[in-house]
Amino acid sequence: EIAEIEDDPSSLVLRPPVVTVMGHVDHGKTSLLDSIRQTHVTSQEAGGITQHIGAYKVTCQGKKIVFLDTPGHEAFTAMRARGAQVTDIAILVVAADDGVMPQTIEAINHAKSANVPIIVAINKMDRPGANPDRIKQQLSDYGLVAEDWGGEAIMVPVSAQKKTGINELLEMILLVAEMQEIKANPNRQAYGTIIEAKLDKGRGPVATVLVQKGTLHIGDTIIAGIAYGKVRAMVNDRGEKVKKAEPSTPVEVLGLADVPQAGDVLVAVDEKIARAVAEKRIAKRRTDELMQSQKVSLDDLFKQIQDGNIQDLNIVIKADVQGSVEALRQSLLALNANNKEVRVNIVHAGVGAINESDVMLASAANALIIGFNVRPDGNARKAGESEKIDIRLYRVIYEALHDVEAAMTGMLAPEYKEALQGRVEIRQLFTISKVVIAGAYVLEGKILNSSQVRVIRNGIVIHEGELESLRRFKDDVKEVAAGYECGITIDKFRDIKEGDIIEAFTMEEIKPKG
Ligand code: GDP
Repeated sequence: EIAEIEDDPSSLVLRPPVVTVMGHVDHGKTSLLDSIRQTHVTSQEAGGITQHIGAYKVTCQGKKIVFLDTPGHEAFTAMRARGAQVTDIAILVVAADDGVMPQTIEAINHAKSANVPIIVAINKMDRPGANPDRIKQQLSDYGLVAEDWGGEAIMVPVSAQKKTGINELLEMILLVAEMQEIKANPNRQAYGTIIEAKLDKGRGPVATVLVQKGTLHIGDTIIAGIAYGKVRAMVNDRGEKVKKAEPSTPVEVLGLADVPQAGDVLVAVDEKIARAVAEKRIAKRRTDELMQSQKVSLDDLFKQIQDGNIQDLNIVIKADVQGSVEALRQSLLALNANNKEVRVNIVHAGVGAINESDVMLASAANALIIGFNVRPDGNARKAGESEKIDIRLYRVIYEALHDVEAAMTGMLAPEYKEALQGRVEIRQLFTISKVVIAGAYVLEGKILNSSQVRVIRNGIVIHEGELESLRRFKDDVKEVAAGYECGITIDKFRDIKEGDIIEAFTMEEIKPKG
């Protein structure tokens, strides 16, 4: 593999900061990116028209700033999950007439977990209902205390629509960039990250690269993920052909033989090794897929802790109500008092079903997910499998604490573990001699008359208990397999509804380790 070159500190020079815009849907991320582009990309400059290549550069007070063009933390986290860190500063957009919303909190957690400084843009200041003080009040609950409230968080009132406050926002970005001393060595082989990539009918694979270190030249041999080739042409964010790209420059690159993935690292290398490395990587990707090796599991963390290889146990919490979120957060953090070697670190905590974004954050932060009275939705389940994230679901706080503490202290693993048998959907309700029977369809696996069952409505667990009866037509049966219909009643639970999902499971004893 290619070893990353360490740069001599004396070779480093300032480079423009790279900024990502995050925030809740409809708070104005896209509008803000558009108005920054419209006000700060001067049309007199050669080339004039901006070209969508996934990132663009603006000039303010003679200094440059690069904006990534995909708003939202999903892209940011997906890239980080692949090991790429491209963002220097995050702009958190909060609508002044709305307030802190779930995705606002997610964005804060994502930026914090990546150690990226946050500048808050309080947007829609032109709206009659705008109340920036309320936003400041709400954000202070999440550790972002405004400067004029005695804190350190920079908050700039703006209106993306009226294009007010944009200059102030850009000045604050430059100020934060200056304090961060964002630097790179321009005089070395290029190193960057793929921002976007696609297959163009006429031009072949086209990749937008954000050059982060060194300078990329026409004719350089490059490798990105499993793709390699020679730079044939480069186009900047103005649609101009360029011969070289310095640190913090986004460019569209032609010449790769394959389409790399967003988040892949791109390096310029010696011509002789490019092909060999690419082929090795292809082979490795195949074996990785075959091995399906576990990325994060509580058991692995447990082993790593015992081996002394881990200090932080990163956790994402999702629960049915805010009260449970807080109870879990407090009790998990309380475990830190008794443990000096390992610390619980809550990277995100929120209300609702476990979603894809939670899984991507867990993957990026090497965290496990604890769900309390909630389940993963379909996309989260898929992402959890492909990212190999340990998603632990609990109904009792004590059990979650017990498992985590066991992992922290290297004590025993849980003695019983839940084994899922099947998933059943309630399709119709019948009343037969005053008893409500749920007509159900087995979606996957099977359900047994001995199964324990859990009733899930909209991703939230509303009941857990035992089956009372399991029937096919008029007969009591032992089990019903996927693809078949059945009638069920649940012991001590009469509130079943159409659309409910029933999970059938059993508790299996786990042999103590060692
Ligand atoms: P995104 O989902 O965060 O990218 O939000 P958009 O940029 O798509 O904006 C959502 C809506 O808010 C659109 O209808 C915008 O026109 C509107 N909007 C965005 N910024 C402002 C603003 O500063 N003032 C007002 N009045 N409306 C805005």
